[in-house]
Amino acid sequence: MKSLVGSKKKFLVFSAHPDDVDFGCSATVARLTSEGNEVVYCIITNGEKGVHNVRQSKRAMTLMREAEQRTAAKIAGVDEVIFLRQTDGSLENTLALRKMLTRVIREARPDIVLAYDPGNHAFDLFGRFHRDHRITAEAVFDSIYPAAGSLGFFPELAKANIMPHQIEEVWFWGTDKPNLWVDVSKTMDKKIQALRAHESQIKDVKAMEKRMRDRARDAVPTGRQAGKKKRIKYVETFRRLTF
Ligand SMILES: [Zn+2]
Repeated sequence: MKSLVGSKKKFLVFSAHPDDVDFGCSATVARLTSEGNEVVYCIITNGEKGVHNVRQSKRAMTLMREAEQRTAAKIAGVDEVIFLRQTDGSLENTLALRKMLTRVIREARPDIVLAYDPGNHAFDLFGRFHRDHRITAEAVFDSIYPAAGSLGFFPELAKANIMPHQIEEVWFWGTDKPNLWVDVSKTMDKKIQALRAHESQIKDVKAMEKRMRDRARDAVPTGRQAGKKKRIKYVETFRRLTF
């Protein structure tokens, strides 16, 4: 199989909660790392409201979810996970949040960013349209452009030697309008394994696995779109936007 991106690239993936990245794109991430690319995760909130045990403290929940995310990241070949530790369910697209995200982009200096699609507005799936996902989608977009690449934004960052950085492209996952179909036939098992690492969140592992495999199978393009790709078993889809 041809590698997904030509020369080795650095990718940065933004996720509102621990586990979103694994539901959204971890099979693609596993493929990218297996082909020698570097991938970094940035998890914005603690995910501490994903509580199934009311007696667990917020602190304990945060630590457990971070540990689960680190395990899941390792499975997908990702060594670096940045936790911004914002409050679950309380994100707003503020200047403060955009400064935080801009800083992460400028410090990580990725070629390509992966994130939720801010173009989705159908409100047809509860999970996809969680407020934190919508806020993250827009705040990441706003931070990529123009803030991360412009000296005029957050001059205090440049004064601290955190210099502007212009990414090459962004791949939005969970999109209504895909234009990039990534063949993940060889790494779908890794995605399932990574999702299993989020033990506190997934009650019925078998049902989750079936749902994920069905979705990835249904996303395989058919007919003319598929071209020569008819032997593809699973895909993850993205809307790719280039500068
Ligand atoms: Zn989420």
